[in-house]
Amino acid sequence: MKKNQVKALKQLWKKWWNNTLSFLFPPLCLSCKKHVHNWGDFCAPCWSELVYVTEPFCKQCGRVFEFKIEDDFVCPKCIQDQPPYDIVRAVFIYNDISKKIILKLKNHDSTYLAKYMGRYMSSNFHELLEKADIIAPIPLHWRRLLKRKFNQSALMIQHLEGFREKKIYDLMQRHKNTPIQGTLDEASRIKNVKSAFKLSPQYNVKGKIVLLIDDVFTTGATVGACAKVLKRKGAKEVWCLSFARADGKFKD
Ligand SMILES: [Zn+2]
Ligand SMILES: [Zn+2]
Repeated sequence: MKKNQVKALKQLWKKWWNNTLSFLFPPLCLSCKKHVHNWGDFCAPCWSELVYVTEPFCKQCGRVFEFKIEDDFVCPKCIQDQPPYDIVRAVFIYNDISKKIILKLKNHDSTYLAKYMGRYMSSNFHELLEKADIIAPIPLHWRRLLKRKFNQSALMIQHLEGFREKKIYDLMQRHKNTPIQGTLDEASRIKNVKSAFKLSPQYNVKGKIVLLIDDVFTTGATVGACAKVLKRKGAKEVWCLSFARADGKFKD
């Protein structure tokens, strides 16, 4: 058989296989499970409710502003109470739709969602991933990990396209099993996670830019506690990239 005939046969086989897969496992909206064109898509009503985080926002904490500000604007909160992290970015605003996806991933074992969440993060923040020296998840305490069976942030990292050599899944450890932050206010959250994290002894972050991955950024208490540890250990900068951010408007 000639080379081009083999190629045509392979393409035909691939097309047939993809059609069979779509027939057996039809692509569903990531949020409401209505039928959509491709896996990873949202249906039109869900898509219209999803809100991308767009400028203007604080250069440091990423807090979104409704009025126009200068490009390198740092919000009064960051100026007054200098956070230990240097850059915080998120793909979506935490609203009913993004919340549904995160909760489905975390509480209902819909681990396939991490693949698409990771892809949204890679395609929107490729530059951050490119510039960081280390990409690591916010760690879970082993008891919660045992209960949930997976760390949602680590799953998302697995699906960030490329950067294999930068990914360190056990960079940090959570040695204090803190209560879930959801119902706490900002001051209680900070107290809750104080001294909860440590750097795994086998890693050196001196002079490195560490990018922490989280599902949702709320008050910054958790990321702040991790950033403090990393900075103490000599990290040059600590960044955070999350799937969604609550900006104080919503609670997780
Ligand atoms: Zn939908
Ligand atoms: Zn800020």
